[in-house]
Amino acid sequence: MQTEQYNRGASSAFHLAEELRENGIDNPEVLKAIAEIPREWFVPEGFRARAYDNEALPIDCGQTISQPYTVARMTQLLNPFQGMKVLEIGTGSGYQAAVLSAIGCRVWSIERVPDLLQTARHRLEKHGFHVATRLGDGTVGWSEYAPYDGIIVTAGAPKIPSPFVSQLSIGGRLVIPVGEKATQQLFVVTRIDEEDYEVEEHGEFRFVPLIGKRGWEE
Ligand code: SAM
Repeated sequence: MQTEQYNRGASSAFHLAEELRENGIDNPEVLKAIAEIPREWFVPEGFRARAYDNEALPIDCGQTISQPYTVARMTQLLNPFQGMKVLEIGTGSGYQAAVLSAIGCRVWSIERVPDLLQTARHRLEKHGFHVATRLGDGTVGWSEYAPYDGIIVTAGAPKIPSPFVSQLSIGGRLVIPVGEKATQQLFVVTRIDEEDYEVEEHGEFRFVPLIGKRGWEE
């Protein structure tokens, strides 16, 4: 029964990856991870029937699991590689962290909501994803393990928190939505050297707010 369920999930995940390919996602490692990970593992029971729809879904505590297209696009923008050190801000359901881990990244992830972190930790461990997690305000980064080759922020910031930039390695990439509470522009900041950064803009997205010392007020 469990195997049948897994096969159904895997086949639906494969179709989801095909849909994302048709929508312009072309990084093979990203598509492979999406095709292999049953998204239903990360979705509350009442929404499992919609787990392979290309849409954001509610999780607990008023938060969301991001739309698969958004997860794929942000992961692709990181230029992920085997052994890459990635810091994720906003563990949420754990799905984004699982995708990065499946690609071979070493992942550190911070979540501010205790119940979400507990559920995500349990899921990630149960399904064999090795992700270091921490409860706290991710807007200050995680200096203990810095520098990171990539930082991915899965909640919308009013401006770029300076610790994210200072915790990037030379050549490292920060992927972050910045803007108003309702809509944001997706930015990629690449650290060129100690002082220089290159900034690219990648269109409009909608995220829940990044709440914290260097984000929105609660
Ligand atoms: N990456 C998640 C996933 O795969 O399900 C998406 C989660 S949701 C779009 C954004 C998450 O960011 C929420 O779980 C929210 O609680 C969290 N968040 C918001 N502000 C935060 C902060 N300052 N530090 C850590 N997490 C934060």
